[in-house]
Amino acid sequence: MDSSNFIKDFIVEDLGNKRYSSVHTRFPPEPNGYLHIGHAKSICINFGISKQFDGICNLRFDDTNPTKEDVEYVDSIKEDVKWLGFDWMENEFYASDYYGLCYEFAEQLVLAGKAYVCHLKGDDVGKYRGTLTSPGKASPWRDRPASESLELFHKMKAGELEEGEAFLRAKIDMESPNMNMRDPAIYRIKKTSHHRTGNEWVVYPMYDYAHPIGDWIEGITHSICTLEFEDHRPLYEWVLNEIKALIDKGYTPSWKMPSALPRQIEFARLNLTYTVMSKRLLRELVENKCVLGWDDPRMPTISGLRRRGYTPSSIREFADRIGVAKTDSMVDIQLLYFCIREELNKNAQRAMVILDPLKVVITNWEEGKEEIFEAENNPENLEMGARKIVFGREIYIEREDFMENPPKKYFRLSPGSEVRLKGAYYIRCEQVVKDAGGKITELHCTYDPESRGGETADARKVKGTLHWVNCVSAIDVEVRLFENLFTLENPGAIPEGKNYMDYVDKDSMIVKCAKAEPLLLGAKPFDRFQFVRHGYFCVDYKDSAPQKPVFNRIVNLKDSWGKISQT
Ligand code: ATP
Ligand code: MG
Repeated sequence: MDSSNFIKDFIVEDLGNKRYSSVHTRFPPEPNGYLHIGHAKSICINFGISKQFDGICNLRFDDTNPTKEDVEYVDSIKEDVKWLGFDWMENEFYASDYYGLCYEFAEQLVLAGKAYVCHLKGDDVGKYRGTLTSPGKASPWRDRPASESLELFHKMKAGELEEGEAFLRAKIDMESPNMNMRDPAIYRIKKTSHHRTGNEWVVYPMYDYAHPIGDWIEGITHSICTLEFEDHRPLYEWVLNEIKALIDKGYTPSWKMPSALPRQIEFARLNLTYTVMSKRLLRELVENKCVLGWDDPRMPTISGLRRRGYTPSSIREFADRIGVAKTDSMVDIQLLYFCIREELNKNAQRAMVILDPLKVVITNWEEGKEEIFEAENNPENLEMGARKIVFGREIYIEREDFMENPPKKYFRLSPGSEVRLKGAYYIRCEQVVKDAGGKITELHCTYDPESRGGETADARKVKGTLHWVNCVSAIDVEVRLFENLFTLENPGAIPEGKNYMDYVDKDSMIVKCAKAEPLLLGAKPFDRFQFVRHGYFCVDYKDSAPQKPVFNRIVNLKDSWGKISQT
């Protein structure tokens, strides 16, 4: 996060005019699902900014809705933030830590005539609230005495009222053009046990009420959130200012509140092409078994990206490149691919793997004879050295690298044509062998002994270079190729009458039984390779076994982003 942006500008201003003496941010996930790449952006911004200003960033779980939250999610969130390379140190908090404080403040607001207990139900709540073009109407209970509201609020807390029978509302302005200010709910009854507070509470604060209080008590200076909260900012400020006013008038809370109030700043959320980015939708994919789980390598979750083979640094690089904006936009998923490709190009070990093997017999090569060649481990990084690869009479090439009736300008192998085997010899196809059904089972070729290492004295032109593996030493490996999970560029904008599930690509994972260089036998979970011509791959940490690695394709080699960004 070196580039400047409007959030940093605000911070510099706030430090300059002494509104705050240091920077304190927070990342506030709701533990109701696994984190996704959009959250990664928020994490990079919040932790990145605090780091840049020598500040602190808290991890706060916004656990205000007991019905949807779970410790499984708390644990996965912590793992993901750590994996991305950020450290909240001892600053791990929960909105539920402040339930007592939120309740105490609510009592004070009631006493001050700033909140009241309302009994409107279901549709009526909406009807009284009005619409964007018409003002709302006062609830019949809006002007009840504070003492009555307080008594009812106590009953709500004591479990004497049922869910939906009553809720606490802030008394603000039913005619406000901002719907969020039309006496929003701040407490509701929920007789559900909470993953941290158990059955201690049956009333729970609403997010819009609990969030500013959580920010304030933690001493957050800059409460950075996504754009959909812009319209909630007046409410955020209302909560803080009303409580502050009560304190200024002499009320002493049971917790010591920091003197400065936090400031909310909004930025545009990340949207990615071919990707849904809502925990609710991602959970549906998991529950409907459209994917292997939250960490399916096709999922945009951080755990999915990790399993697929992305590195933390490639995701941070991505977050940095997309930057921080004030208007929503859609980022091309090719940019994410570009970031991991750039990184792995420099440091991934190369290997030859045949995804769809076709056997080639070199008829003029002596049976049993072997020859050893050296292959660079990474031509972009010669320090990575070289390895030995064994050449012999029988090898595999890709089935798609041979065509019996090729079109003009086909530079790979065809009857009578000559190609270079990468790092080895030139071969010429002499004979095509087929089974009874007409399927090609093997090719008989001859090699040119003069072409060792891929060059000949007569400098004969051979355009095609094929990768290959030796049949004798090849190992079998499972390789998984992925397409985007969605066939629609913007799954957020679904045509009328359709469901986003209609656009899940059922063939987005293709499993191959491939033939690979023996080098890959010892590959460990999370080892990453470039398979020549096929892209970058990572060893699946769940489905691999010792000596039986399973490879996930992270990304292919084609760089359409580079091309896009140059035009
Ligand atoms: P979702 O709609 O995916 O469930 P959310 O906003 O409800 O997301 P939270 O757990 O409340 O999820 O989000 C934690 C933080 O991450 C919030 O500050 C939120 O603004 C931010 N965040 C969520 N989605 C994105 C996104 N796509 N891009 C950037 N930040 C995001
Ligand atoms: Mg949310």
